Amino acid sequence: MKVVLQNLTKIFPSRNKKSGEEVVAVNDFTFEIPDGKLIGLLGPSGCGKSTTLYMISGLQKPTGGKIFFGDDDVTELPTESRGVGLVFQNYALYPHMTVKQNILFPLQNLKGADKMSKAEMLKRATEAAKLVQIDNLMERKPSELSGGQQQRVAIARALVKMPRVLLLDEPLSNLDARLRLQTREEIRRIQRETGITTIFVTHDQEEAMSISDMIVVMKLGVLQQIGAPQEVYDDPHNLFVAKFLGTPPINVFEGAVSGGKLIIGEQAVLDVPGVADQDVYVGIRPEGFIPEENGPMTCNLSSVEVMGRDSSLVTTHTASLNPLVRSIIDSDIKVDPAAETVNFSLKPHKVFIFNKETEDRIYFEVN
Ligand code: ADP
Ligand code: MG
Repeated sequence: MKVVLQNLTKIFPSRNKKSGEEVVAVNDFTFEIPDGKLIGLLGPSGCGKSTTLYMISGLQKPTGGKIFFGDDDVTELPTESRGVGLVFQNYALYPHMTVKQNILFPLQNLKGADKMSKAEMLKRATEAAKLVQIDNLMERKPSELSGGQQQRVAIARALVKMPRVLLLDEPLSNLDARLRLQTREEIRRIQRETGITTIFVTHDQEEAMSISDMIVVMKLGVLQQIGAPQEVYDDPHNLFVAKFLGTPPINVFEGAVSGGKLIIGEQAVLDVPGVADQDVYVGIRPEGFIPEENGPMTCNLSSVEVMGRDSSLVTTHTASLNPLVRSIIDSDIKVDPAAETVNFSLKPHKVFIFNKETEDRIYFEVN
């Protein structure tokens, strides 16, 4: 089921009556989520991810704009009639019911034409439980399950009605690191197997990048960029997006463009043909540095960390906005850890420059 958001906006009245300032939680969102895809809604805490999800689910009413499922305008439709499955960060299972009863619950409440026979309900519940691999735990109570198992029950319960759209709000936050990794792969598998259009909310860029067909990056209620994860990583439209994606994060420097050259500190580090003279921010991905004896950019070497396949050179630079400049290089390239400085050439497609006021990307031709 395709989901379309059209000028979707949510404004909350002020919580603090005196200041009277309202919060624009979601500001004029327009985008289309293709049928059968998994979309990662990504951004720092407070940027409006949950609010967007709640409006899609019908739990919250938009201040403005419309929501379509396929060609149907569902903006005014109550949650029960939208055909959405919801999973939250805290699994919210009924503690006194068994796993089986928890999964059956949404089916038992179906009314009218949707009503099912007992046998039918049981068949559906068993299928959902099998899908998330908890069919051997059906008689247990939630308190007898691990966090990961509880979250699977919550997912099974959201799937049992065969929703048109599955909505997941930070579903892995309460799991430990290893389970988080495993469960996110499970979610990806389940989504592929069922083909249900899924919206996955997270503040964790790596999580979103690893499982999404498409990511939607948000900041303070405003949509920043949409695209396939690799596409957004390779071509961030502004400094915020560049900084938000990638581990280790992008290195950011104060710089300037002068006569078609990019200057960092006192050094001309790269040709940027066609860019007017101006002060800029420069973002360089960790994998954009190549140590070379005569490389144009000099950093002070702090340490060399060898990590098997790659090494990380930890350096400093006076124009860097971060205390450390991290580069990732092939471990075949040997760098003397005792050296005071290291010279780098830069891979032009790993270097991004941004307007200093707007922080929007300034494009240059890469030869
Ligand atoms: P996220 O899920 O990305 O962390 P939210 O969608 O929960 O962000 O919140 C977006 C903004 O809206 C925040 O500034 C938050 O404080 C505000 N907000 C959310 N819910 C309410 C509410 N019920 N009343 C007032 N402000 C709210
Ligand atoms: Mg949230």
